[in-house]
Amino acid sequence: MSILYKSTRNSDITVTASQAILKGLADDGGLFVPVEIPKLSVAVDELKGMSYQETAYTVMKEFLTDFTEDELKECIRRAYDSKFDTEEIAPLVKVDGTYYLELFHGATIAFKDMALSILPHLLTVSARKNQVKNEIVILTATSGDTGKAAMAGFADVEGTRIIVFYPKNGVSRVQEMQMVTQKGRNVDVVAIHGNFDNAQSGVKAMFENKKLAEELDAHGYQFSSANSINIGRLVPQVVYYVYAYAKLLQNDEIQAGEEINVVVPTGNFGNILAAYYAKQMGVPIRKLVCASNENKVLFDFFQTGTYDKKNREFVLTTSPSMDILISSNLERLIYQIADCDDKKNAELMNALKEEGIYQITEDMKVKLADFAAGYATEKQTAEMIHEVYGRTGYVIDTHTAVAAHVCKEYGKKTGDTAKCVVASTASPYKFVKSVMTAIDEKYESQDEFELLEELKKVSGTELPNAIREILDANILHTLECDADKMEETVKSILGL
Ligand SMILES: *Cc1c(COP(=O)(O)O)cnc(C)c1O
Repeated sequence: MSILYKSTRNSDITVTASQAILKGLADDGGLFVPVEIPKLSVAVDELKGMSYQETAYTVMKEFLTDFTEDELKECIRRAYDSKFDTEEIAPLVKVDGTYYLELFHGATIAFKDMALSILPHLLTVSARKNQVKNEIVILTATSGDTGKAAMAGFADVEGTRIIVFYPKNGVSRVQEMQMVTQKGRNVDVVAIHGNFDNAQSGVKAMFENKKLAEELDAHGYQFSSANSINIGRLVPQVVYYVYAYAKLLQNDEIQAGEEINVVVPTGNFGNILAAYYAKQMGVPIRKLVCASNENKVLFDFFQTGTYDKKNREFVLTTSPSMDILISSNLERLIYQIADCDDKKNAELMNALKEEGIYQITEDMKVKLADFAAGYATEKQTAEMIHEVYGRTGYVIDTHTAVAAHVCKEYGKKTGDTAKCVVASTASPYKFVKSVMTAIDEKYESQDEFELLEELKKVSGTELPNAIREILDANILHTLECDADKMEETVKSILGL
């Protein structure tokens, strides 16, 4: 069966998977969604013995139906290789009755690697399929992790350039060092004077700017996106939820068909949406638990049905990759619960853009029953790291801790005893300062780079490659700009 993609703001136009990957965002500003979510073609039981790569093929072939078997398998082979520090790619670790799905074993030690190590390959195949002659310029806004993962994925990839925007004071020191030391002749990174939402809005505005698109085309360029608005990011993320379920079965932790819960530390709503797609493909997931930090716009949305970014302050937290007030991928869910009513969805998204607030109908609210939501304050996040370490010696990062806290509270509040998979989205090394301070306040005054050695000692783990790399790397990027000068900056980088 062939799966086509349509925009959440105009259901009349359909494109192939490769075209959706190439474009990133639809021309009308909407996001591409599959016309229907395909079912897994094998019983979950048959997934048990599969490697990560085999699982990836089984899942992705259902979505990317205009890729040949050889093309897709080659993309998978090149993505999930020794860039990952374990053959399992995404190990499932049982700690204290909770299952941590470790998604941070790739090149940049955060879960963005799971999709961004394959996206460049999907994109180059897509370009070939559609006879694209232009050089593809990947434009990306990052709250810290996407930027580095995208640069690592696209560095020196033939026929592509990548420009990344990050909030100057909104990322951890390790994150910033990772980005400004990135090598590759096609790579640029810019610090903006503003927050992530400014960066994301600026990038979206460039995608929607028809005049800019024409100018680019005249110079042999076209934009695409490595953000999770790209369906090529979302589809690879479905894989690890299927894989986690198969691992639970294989390890006799659950019976075939038994429902599990999945708790996801959420920012842009991409990771948890992938889990929702996994459920619709047939993975027995009971609740998708959306975990927020103090920027709890999503928690409030699930409580009230009102998405309100207007009446709240943006908070800088110790889980910066979730410091987001406009969760782009929520649009895909809104569209689905509006029964694919493109007009209704466009109206709500327009209200968000113009007024910073929208409210869904009661009918739509009922369709959110697959989801639950919770949040963790800064104090609760730190306590969770402390508690898990104290009891088990296992060190989790701040983002994972937000989810672990929400997981615990969810179980207590609802009495739901289903086994819980927590998406562990970053290595503690990436947020070493906050993690070590949570373990013991005495680390508060120490330098982030000294603490790396301390973390190595307390956790009994090896310093990841991604960290060793930046310790003596040169700073290659120093460009900064105001949030309203992003377009000019892109033009000057491309020589337009
Ligand atoms: C990006 C990121 C998140 C949020 O994921 P979304 O798909 O944006 O919801 C959570 N944790 C870490 C470490 C991240 O890098």
